[in-house]
Amino acid sequence: MLLTSIKCSNCGAYHDATLEECPDCHKTNELRTLKDFPKNVFFLHPVAQIAVFIIGFAYIGMLMTEIFYSNFLESSMAIACLTYLTMVIVILAVILFTRRKLFFNCFKHLSNYVIGIVIGAIAIGLGIIISMITSIWYQGNENINQAAAESVIVVYPLLSFLLFGFLGPICEELTYRVGFYSFLRRFNKYVAIVATTIVFAFIHFRFNNEDIVSELVALPQYLLMGFLLTYAYEKGGPSASMSAHIMYNIASTIMTLMRYYYGQHA
Ligand SMILES: [Zn+2]
Repeated sequence: MLLTSIKCSNCGAYHDATLEECPDCHKTNELRTLKDFPKNVFFLHPVAQIAVFIIGFAYIGMLMTEIFYSNFLESSMAIACLTYLTMVIVILAVILFTRRKLFFNCFKHLSNYVIGIVIGAIAIGLGIIISMITSIWYQGNENINQAAAESVIVVYPLLSFLLFGFLGPICEELTYRVGFYSFLRRFNKYVAIVATTIVFAFIHFRFNNEDIVSELVALPQYLLMGFLLTYAYEKGGPSASMSAHIMYNIASTIMTLMRYYYGQHA
């Protein structure tokens, strides 16, 4: 029933169980309960959900490989911009061709942005606390993500704000929350939260780093982010998780710049 269609009691047409009303006659779907399908989670057609996740996952994989293993900063920055832009276009095409109206409705409620901003602030605060705690007993190297991000941010601050502050978070939210989480959410809330958190954390984990300890030290941060963003999505949908993610990434870009200049002139 969660993947196959249900029959409209009014006109007899078949439609997705997650829809609030029948797309043919607009009769309210009485079989849809808020417990099964919370009102702010955005459900694409199951096939479109899987497509969005696979497209996004492939793009993010490409991007990680290109940015972090390329020795030429200029070329990797240009490649990153192009990759993110084509990724947004392809994923939005899937969404806009299938459930355009429902998707735009997700961005109309101010309260969802408030949820996102509150969770974003919690993520920034907890992130600072975690990095302070880990820095007490671990003084080693930065992990590859931080090191690569730092060198790029310092050379291209404005482009970095656009890429890491906006495009990256939007792409990742479409992939992990709109694609992956909403698909699993059809079946079970807790399985969906745990699986999305783990997948989100481990895509940021660099297994090829020779200094594996520095990656393990960063893991709690990734898990925390994965969980909080998924929670934001469950409560407030795409506008909540996107605003939380954008806020967090802008804050960490600013902190990276401050750390660099403070370190330079101290
Ligand atoms: Zn109907």
